Amino acid sequence: MDRCIFCDVIAGRVPARIVHRDELVVAFEDIHPQAPVHILVVPARHVASLNDTGPDDAPLLGSLLATARALARARGAEAKGYRLVVNTMAGAGQTVFHLHVHLLAGRPFSWPPG
Ligand code: AMP
Ligand code: ZN
Repeated sequence: MDRCIFCDVIAGRVPARIVHRDELVVAFEDIHPQAPVHILVVPARHVASLNDTGPDDAPLLGSLLATARALARARGAEAKGYRLVVNTMAGAGQTVFHLHVHLLAGRPFSWPPG
């Protein structure tokens, strides 16, 4: 595997503002926030994209969503709303090939997305 920036964050080789860590997932602040709240929730082990998951990964995928939901509550975003985004492959805007859920909140979001 080539060097993975999110594996480096998880291992502490690259500094990041980590806001949650458990055996399955790690969450940290996005380095280029696109909203007042912009957190990335990622698997603790390397998984390149959603395409690299299968039925056995249901606990991991559930944990990613449950963690994003808990962080949305912790940041006071429940009532006004928040957006979860999983860009998958370059055509959809994925630039870091370690699966991640973007948690975005704190401003209005339009639809359809760009
Ligand atoms: P995506 O385009 O969906 O692959 O999103 C990758 C995200 O990772 C972008 O929002 C980047 O700002 C963010 N990012 C890249 N490097 C880092 C880093 N070292 N620490 C935190 N966020 C990062
Ligand atoms: Zn990785």
